[in-house]
Amino acid sequence: MAHDSQNHSGAVPVPQPIRADGAGGVDRGPRDVMRDLQNPDMLVPPKTDNGLIPNMRFSFSDTHMQLNHGGWSREITVRELPIATTLAGVNMYLTPGGVRELHWHQQAEWAYMLLGRARITAVDQNGRNFIADIGPGDLWYFPPGIPHSIQGLEEGCEFLLVFDDGNFSDLNTLSISDWFAHTPKEVLSANFGVPESDFDAIPKEQLYIYQADVPGPLATQAVESPNGTVPLPFAYRLLAQPPMRMPGGSVRIVDSTVFPISKAVAAALVELEPGAMRELHWHPNNDEWQYYLTGQGRMTVFGSEGNARTFDFRAGDVGYVPFAFGHYIQNTGTETLWFLEMFKSDRFQDLSLNQWMALTPPQLVESNLHVKPDFIARLNKVKRPVVKHPGFTYLNRDR
Ligand code: MN
Ligand code: MN
Repeated sequence: MAHDSQNHSGAVPVPQPIRADGAGGVDRGPRDVMRDLQNPDMLVPPKTDNGLIPNMRFSFSDTHMQLNHGGWSREITVRELPIATTLAGVNMYLTPGGVRELHWHQQAEWAYMLLGRARITAVDQNGRNFIADIGPGDLWYFPPGIPHSIQGLEEGCEFLLVFDDGNFSDLNTLSISDWFAHTPKEVLSANFGVPESDFDAIPKEQLYIYQADVPGPLATQAVESPNGTVPLPFAYRLLAQPPMRMPGGSVRIVDSTVFPISKAVAAALVELEPGAMRELHWHPNNDEWQYYLTGQGRMTVFGSEGNARTFDFRAGDVGYVPFAFGHYIQNTGTETLWFLEMFKSDRFQDLSLNQWMALTPPQLVESNLHVKPDFIARLNKVKRPVVKHPGFTYLNRDR
């Protein structure tokens, strides 16, 4: 990457929008150097980038923080990232004892626990309940309309929530406190068969998140239902799943084939070592919503008619890929890159460029791409979602 010899900010070199071949020029004007340093592939895009691909990245660091006693939340929806119509995401923290109150919504809720532990509760339409403790790397899934709650345990917790509608807002859910506040007390009295005075202290508006005491062990909060517990568990231990391992990283896939209740959201948890990449591929079923957990990387999205655009990502960023658009993700850093791919679907599905070519008559691939038989011989008939070849790293990129 080209750097300005005029260093305006002290020790950190100031990157300039200049390619190795001299294209571009110095940016002396008003600029945010910290952001340019974080986005080397936006400042100096690969030569192959072209055309009008819309924005496909948004960082949770650029969102509004909803601060409550008991925790915080922030969200990325179509209001933040207009292309992301299929899924919306919420990043939430609950203090020890902090509660995301009893509520429900029209959308399915899929979640991944990032840090700490929480207790979740839900009851289904047949009066079957589900009460469980969730730890790092665990998922939960609440079907649309099913009432639920989340509470931080001793160490508090931070998690990612994903909803199957890009227009969703977690601030606009159906909450128990809100319904009580907006129901006449005589109706509450008639409904529950108790005096109106029982409701003297109910909250006057939606609580959303509130502080409560840390709950005791799971056994102390067990509620036996005469109808039993939900037949399909609402939680899944994703990190306990043996991963598909290959040189350069690993992949865990979770959809309704292994987590049957999760009908609306399918996902893959991908690990990329430094120098490794998620291979060139696309998805034949729906858009992809990504969440970057650790490390840093870059993705180029290819969208037909010569359109391609590269984005840089780091922990806490969200990426998006429209249905069927080609893409790859490279680890551009020195630590392991972990990210989640999520889809509004009951199945995870992807198409490998490499496998497609390997399973096509070689003469056709050779004549189409002007490649030689020794290249065809190296193609993989077995899909390899992560690839890492010695000597081929991000640092070898052509600028
Ligand atoms: Mn919810
Ligand atoms: Mn993908």
